[in-house]
Amino acid sequence: MKRVAVLGGGPAGSFAAERLASAGLDTIVFDEKMAWEKPCGGGLTFKAYHQYPFLIDNQAPKKLITNTCLSAPRAGAVGMRLSQPLVIYSRYDLNHLLLQRAEKAGARLEQTRVLGLDRTSNGWSVRTKSGTLDADYCVLATGARNPLRRLGTEWTAADTMSALGYYVPSEQDHIDIQFLPKLNGYIWVFPRCGHLSVGICGKGEPAQALRARLERYMQEKDISSKDARFYSHMLPALEHGAWRRNRVAGDGWLAVGDAAGLVDPITGEGLYYAMRSGDLASQVLLNDAHSKSHSSKAHAYGELLRRDFAADLEYGATLAKHVFTGRFLFNTVPARMVHFMRRSERFRALMQDLFAGTQPYLGLRERLFRNLNGSLQEIAANFFLSKIMPQRVAATPVSVPPVSE
Ligand SMILES: Cc1cc2nc3c(=O)[nH]c(=O)nc-3n(C[C@H](O)[C@H](O)[C@H](O)COP(=O)(O)OP(=O)(O)OC[C@H]3O[C@@H](n4cnc5c(N)ncnc54)[C@H](O)[C@@H]3O)c2cc1C
Repeated sequence: MKRVAVLGGGPAGSFAAERLASAGLDTIVFDEKMAWEKPCGGGLTFKAYHQYPFLIDNQAPKKLITNTCLSAPRAGAVGMRLSQPLVIYSRYDLNHLLLQRAEKAGARLEQTRVLGLDRTSNGWSVRTKSGTLDADYCVLATGARNPLRRLGTEWTAADTMSALGYYVPSEQDHIDIQFLPKLNGYIWVFPRCGHLSVGICGKGEPAQALRARLERYMQEKDISSKDARFYSHMLPALEHGAWRRNRVAGDGWLAVGDAAGLVDPITGEGLYYAMRSGDLASQVLLNDAHSKSHSSKAHAYGELLRRDFAADLEYGATLAKHVFTGRFLFNTVPARMVHFMRRSERFRALMQDLFAGTQPYLGLRERLFRNLNGSLQEIAANFFLSKIMPQRVAATPVSVPPVSE
């Protein structure tokens, strides 16, 4: 293999390009915008920067946030200090950082729109707005709105969710997560350098309705939309069955990031999976650059994805509805989450791991049930103590910021 065309220079494409070029392959990244403010929260979990420390050890502007506040209807709010901060970038800065790394590694960056792909006897002919280029292999990284529909995930409307919001010129020192009645999704407020990313994502509800919910929330919280810039995009959120038939690779191509549907179907986290899939795709191309047929490369990539994280996200798809609109102990799951966080140390430890991205969905149910007895005892003890000795409970040091009903 001599030349790889990487179609799309977002986190998935630029990460793959950096790895391929570092290993000496002739790598060209095509992106119509290059670094840009792609609609996004921009939040990276501990899992991401632990795996790729350059994501935190760099000079690019970013915020490290340790305080979070989780709220649910009829349960109020609860604060938690994260043991591992969330790192929040503007997408312009993150994309710029990743593209620069690819270029430094030797990848060529071409700012142009890819119009189409034609299969040739040796590889591909990539048609762009500025001409045609031959390549031996293609990495498809054109994001959720992939225009090259013959390659990458084939999704139905049920496998996506809307995500939209505002960049608000304001400051705050903590993250807000707000659950809403009957919504398979949530609102977030992420502080970034110089502004907030305030957004909502939700499955099965039209974008207009989501926007109305978000604007109501902003009014209630006194978050002004004056001078705020609106953004909206779609997010892959594959249903359980769609993971099994997900088209992530084929003859002469591998798909990475959103173009391959690789997003957490509960949280909408996609940045880590974009970079991780870019990394795994490049490993497959490099390990087998000469020895394997295209079909075995495609198979090897699918297997690697599955083992690394896709099986976990597939299982996550079965939990999504329960997390947002399910019921537990005569209340909604989000309300119970807030109650448990307030009163159970064990449950807070679990939430810490979920925020850090280190608690897989496979194993979550077991951990919840293993801890349930202890958590309920903690909650009962806390409850009775607060009735018998309110002053003693008030004085008990807790490891979280103040709590409000
Ligand atoms: C509102 C919202 C909030 C989100 N918040 C978070 C968050 O806080 N944390 C998180 O982890 N994930 C978040 N995500 C998900 C995250 O944004 C995506 O998973 C991530 O951007 C995927 O990266 P990617 O490289 O696959 O695709 P993209 O970032 O979409 O990059 C695709 C690139 O391809 C280029 N392109 C497309 N078509 C062509 C073409 N024909 N020719 C040339 N170039 C082309 C585009 O210009 C673009 O640069 C959010 C998503 C949304 C919509």
